[in-house]
Amino acid sequence: MRWRGPALAALLLLSACTAGQQSASSASPRAEPAAAPPSREAVSSARLVRFFDELAYGNAAAPEGASPTLLRWADRSLTYAIVGPAPPGADRLIAERLARFQALTGVAVAPANGAEATLVFEFVRGTRVPVREELAACSARTTYDESGIRRARIFIATEPARTFSACLDHELMHAYGFPHHSSVLPSVMGPIRWSDTLSEADEAVLRALYDRRLAVGLAQSVAEPRVAQILGDLGALSSRQLAAELEWHTIPPQAAMLAFDPPGLARSIARSFWAAPPDLAYLVEISFLSAPERERPRASVRYVRLGRERTFSRLVSPEEIARSWPTVAEASPRFRSAAERSAALGLFRYAIADTAAGPCLVFVAETGGLLPGRVDGFYCAPARERLEVGAVLDRLRLRQPGYEPPAVAELR
Ligand SMILES: [Zn+2]
Repeated sequence: MRWRGPALAALLLLSACTAGQQSASSASPRAEPAAAPPSREAVSSARLVRFFDELAYGNAAAPEGASPTLLRWADRSLTYAIVGPAPPGADRLIAERLARFQALTGVAVAPANGAEATLVFEFVRGTRVPVREELAACSARTTYDESGIRRARIFIATEPARTFSACLDHELMHAYGFPHHSSVLPSVMGPIRWSDTLSEADEAVLRALYDRRLAVGLAQSVAEPRVAQILGDLGALSSRQLAAELEWHTIPPQAAMLAFDPPGLARSIARSFWAAPPDLAYLVEISFLSAPERERPRASVRYVRLGRERTFSRLVSPEEIARSWPTVAEASPRFRSAAERSAALGLFRYAIADTAAGPCLVFVAETGGLLPGRVDGFYCAPARERLEVGAVLDRLRLRQPGYEPPAVAELR
């Protein structure tokens, strides 16, 4: 859809949200061997500013790239409408969530009919909506000109039913001027999902974006000192849980320590992230791979590398690993018996889970060598396609020994 503003042909922004939908809480360090000690400190302002920057301006390492200037609604009021096969309760939930956005941004919200509304929620029958070359459970399309956002349209698939409440705040963050995602702090915008509703950090950056000291069109270098000041004035985030969460860094997939090129995903859309606790007891890295314009094949893999002289307290089973990956866990998997297979990286324990959308291979292996580590993940093949265990596990390999992710020095 294109909408023409009074002066300029409007620009259109599409936000693909597949990463956030596929990983949910899977990547949290809960399953890791040496959990970070709970921090009593508040979230540092530098981390909060970094979070704002990634959401507003993007990250060059992410597939969706970066935005040059700041965006937010042009006017201090907007109207909304709901179209398509809305599920029961949609009116009430949308009104509740919008009231929260109104309180945080100061942009007044009122209902209108579908033709007049500047913000439209469109329900789409089925499980996926197309966004560029990806498939997502929901997406946002924002139309803006030099004054700011003029219109936004949020598309939400009607199945499964919980998609709606899980997507809503995420897509509203896009519609209010954050085109990008970030893993820097717990957020509805994280590829590693903590919660379906706005976090304390999300609320802080929303308030900051609509502060009068910022303006549409600001470049990052101009906005950044102002954002730091605004966030400082809002008060440091005090939540210990927020501060204790790992800070994830987006990296280009080719910079990941673990390389994985499973069948059918040579031209995949890939996203990679890594994190480490403050004491650098371990590094954890996660990569998500999905086929363009298709639901399957799909794969995700996690690599945990322990620090020296550390060991895992116990072996975990493929079924336990499956529970941490929502793509498998939420697909009503029926496990066939577990088995073992020796591959380049070591001895894998694996199980095949049958789901309605096709078979998934879930695997885990401890890797030896100078620095011990663990690799786990899943590979889901299209329905009715034969799943070759060896063809998947043999394509997992570590890059050369001694490889360090580029930004590890920043942690010290
Ligand atoms: Zn998104």
